[in-house]
Amino acid sequence: MNILLIAPPGAGKGTQGTVIAEELGLPHIATGDLLRDNIARGTELGRASQALVERGELVPDDLVLEMVREVLERDGRDGYVLDGVPRTIEQARTLYQTAVELGLTADVALHLHVPDDVVVERLLARAAEQGRADDTADVIRHRLALYHRVTAPILAWYQQRDILVTVDAAPPVEEVTREVLAALESVRLDDAPPADTTGLAAAFGVPPEPSQP
Ligand code: AMP
Repeated sequence: MNILLIAPPGAGKGTQGTVIAEELGLPHIATGDLLRDNIARGTELGRASQALVERGELVPDDLVLEMVREVLERDGRDGYVLDGVPRTIEQARTLYQTAVELGLTADVALHLHVPDDVVVERLLARAAEQGRADDTADVIRHRLALYHRVTAPILAWYQQRDILVTVDAAPPVEEVTREVLAALESVRLDDAPPADTTGLAAAFGVPPEPSQP
């Protein structure tokens, strides 16, 4: 199963992404983790991203997309949980194009919904525990504002493509995990004919997927 995980910061993306990937035997590909790893190793990508990540800004689309394409090609052939991308319309468009080329289009866009006040509370608690550079109150506010302005509008496209699944991620972690796994199971069992994606492909500016024999 090919899963995109889309959620505001602090919604439990990392935690749920890890559990889902383990349960379904899929690689968990998290762009935030990949970028932090590059920063820690001082790679060219890490040096280009560090200040942006620390300020809660988005890393330029081309850098993220190149990184994601490489990892998808290497690790995502038999399914994936892709966490933290797309975050912009351009990322959604190019990711779709890449996935069509690789024959790896998403089966489900899993959206974890959490109200802002819960998110802020969680992130401040995480800051106390893990000391992530981008978990200060100001940066958290900025990341949330970016999410609402730039990332959340993408959800409508997945809705249009009929692959959007939204789960309330405000309850305790285990409860959310149960809901998420149940939702994914029903997607897996759903043998309804695939949604017509023609309109979406046109919206993304790329040719539609070839039809199945
Ligand atoms: P996360 O761990 O998903 O909260 O991501 C941490 C930070 O990494 C974000 O605040 C951004 O600075 C950067 N980042 C992660 N994914 C992306 C992406 N898809 N596009 C741009 N920047 C990203």
